[in-house]
Amino acid sequence: GRIDSMVLSKPKNKHVSQVFSLSGKVAAITGGARGIGLEVSRALAEAGADVAIIYNSTNYDASAIATTIASSNNIKCTAYRSDVTDAEGIEKTLQLIEREFGHLDIVVANAGIASYHAAEDYTPAEFSDVMKVNFDGAFYTAQAAARIFKKSGRGNVVFTASVSAILVNVPQKQAAYNASKAGLVHLAKSLAVEWVDFCRVNCISPGFIATDMIATHPQEWKDKWFSMIPAQRLCDPYELKGVYVFCASDASSYMTGANLVIDGGYTLP
Ligand code: NDP
Repeated sequence: GRIDSMVLSKPKNKHVSQVFSLSGKVAAITGGARGIGLEVSRALAEAGADVAIIYNSTNYDASAIATTIASSNNIKCTAYRSDVTDAEGIEKTLQLIEREFGHLDIVVANAGIASYHAAEDYTPAEFSDVMKVNFDGAFYTAQAAARIFKKSGRGNVVFTASVSAILVNVPQKQAAYNASKAGLVHLAKSLAVEWVDFCRVNCISPGFIATDMIATHPQEWKDKWFSMIPAQRLCDPYELKGVYVFCASDASSYMTGANLVIDGGYTLP
């Protein structure tokens, strides 16, 4: 029966120096060329994975970034343009990655956008733009991954959620963003249970990380939020590298449906 099957299949008992290794794995990261996602791409490459960077904007040269990551880590790294709000597009992209790399083992659904409107002023488009990228897009990415993982019998999905899934930053004006991230955390739990036979699904919820996204926040809000962080500083995106490697590797082999909060204590008081 089920107990003898592949359910959360047990990895070999490896030395701890090996347990974080992603050597031989293929990882795809949405939003993988900027901000948090870029550090995730670097981290998984440093842990030995071959990396497919998925990006959307044409404002910069994602292929050059991939080339640098490949040569500094002696792995294969390629950039693919794909908008996560296009379900068919992201599925085709993941299938292409699987074909070009030979297999696919880890998918990090990290792409996200922020927006600020008084809740009563949201237009339907402004509200759904955020939900489309952060929630629907993450689901499309995970679903496309799961269809591949179901065939191979194993895989790993990691979502970038947020502390906004847990609490409301004051002043507010991020109702859509907060809802999208809270939805993502519960979506991950649902998928973790439903897909337990062939993949793990976990969330990482960062606090305030110094990226372009943070740079767009109004300064007065930032001053208020930052004064509320017990660690008394922002997080550099590279400080998340180990957490993503942990989730992506056998180091977390029995962890599924979890939400790891990495916030310098912000959500605690
Ligand atoms: P950035 O603004 O630096 O990066 C956003 C990333 O999302 C970019 O790589 C962008 O791709 C990608 N993206 C946006 N829209 C799409 C789309 N339609 N299709 C594909 N990719 C898309 O922000 P961060 O690095 O800070 O954010 C990464 C994730 O972390 C987001 O989900 C965010 O909500 C979350 N987060 C961030 C926190 C922070 O403090 N910075 C805190 C908690 C969570 P491209 O470069 O091609 O535009």
